[in-house]
Amino acid sequence: MNRLLALLRQRCPVCLRGQVFTSLFGMHTHCPECGVKYERETGYFLNSMFIGYAAGFLILAPTAVLLALRDVSIAVFSGAIILETAILTPLIFRYARLIWMHADQMLDPRQPESPVSNLQSSAFLRDQE
Ligand SMILES: [Zn+2]
Repeated sequence: MNRLLALLRQRCPVCLRGQVFTSLFGMHTHCPECGVKYERETGYFLNSMFIGYAAGFLILAPTAVLLALRDVSIAVFSGAIILETAILTPLIFRYARLIWMHADQMLDPRQPESPVSNLQSSAFLRDQE
């Protein structure tokens, strides 16, 4: 129940407190509360595109069917679909990523990262170069 609330409030999948987004499409790289890195690996958010695509289809399909049944012109049909897409894109983008991150956290849990471990890992990476 806490996770569902955190998902709806667009919070961190690990600590369920930190904000994920900074602007309409901008994200924090790390959680401001627990320090966990949101993008676990390169291409991590690719799976959220599938969620976004499915959600977009499920949301737009009823509108398309309704407009087709009303036998509207192609201009009205296209305009309505484009307008609905433009309005819903930020919501779909955000919740597709959030659903993916929360599902991934449930399937493969991570612990919150302490600032000390962040420093150690960055020092480790620096030594590797
Ligand atoms: Zn967090």
